[in-house]
Amino acid sequence: MSLSAKEVKATSSGCVYLIGAGPGDPELLTLRAARLLQRADVVVYDNLVSADVLDFLPAGAERIYAGKRRNEHTMRQEQINALLVKLAGEGKRVVRLKGGDPFIFGRGGEELQTLAAHGVSFEVIPGVTAASGVSSYAGIPLTHRNYAQTCLFVTGHLKDGTADLDWHSLVRPNQTVVIYMGLSGLPDICQRMVHHGAPTDLPVAVVQDGSTKTQKVVTGTLSTIAERVSAQKLKSPSLTIIGNVVKLHAELAWFKTVASSA
Ligand code: SAH
Repeated sequence: MSLSAKEVKATSSGCVYLIGAGPGDPELLTLRAARLLQRADVVVYDNLVSADVLDFLPAGAERIYAGKRRNEHTMRQEQINALLVKLAGEGKRVVRLKGGDPFIFGRGGEELQTLAAHGVSFEVIPGVTAASGVSSYAGIPLTHRNYAQTCLFVTGHLKDGTADLDWHSLVRPNQTVVIYMGLSGLPDICQRMVHHGAPTDLPVAVVQDGSTKTQKVVTGTLSTIAERVSAQKLKSPSLTIIGNVVKLHAELAWFKTVASSA
């Protein structure tokens, strides 16, 4: 099978580095991510990438914001895919930078499928996913021999606005449930878990801006958390952690933020 001139150019030149930027604190970047950022020609980055992480880029690197706030997509996914193919075809060292880990609720796989179909070479650099980074900075171990032997990562962002999760698996005892993108659906999620048999006093934490100076942790139970989160006016990005491990927050919280030192 022969390649078109354009395809030959793409395969013989640029490369796309799909990099996980971690949850916010730039110290959580991997060494490989930090090194590649310093050598990038162009970076295409998402909403969740913190300004401190972008500071690793060389002054001359072109920065393209691809957006993706909830309900406010600056660039459509297909446009992002096409842009990555085009930039690599121009022979550039392209960094595609995503919050957390690109393969966890990050659509990284979809972007790579397009690159693969166009013969563009790529590499994946994992990042610290929010579940891991945010829970660490909140002092909530996701597993603990006394409380949880299983941990589930689920998305609370649901296509038609209603939660369509496997509720029976979510309410099993001795496990921790971590919900990405679940802030607006929180009241519904808590109600449904109780409806499917979870105890109303099951501890819940919601962490906003985890691992950054503005980190906020709100704790409660399945019956109280939605009201507390709304009273504290938590915003996105926020991660929800459900399970008895949340009890450990009171004992293990170590990270000092602006709010906690005020
Ligand atoms: N690929 C990312 C997740 C993208 S989905 C990762 O691996 O972390 C976006 C969701 O991640 C947010 O809605 C929020 O639930 C969570 N999240 C990401 N960064 C966060 C942070 N610093 N604090 C709290 N939640 C965060």
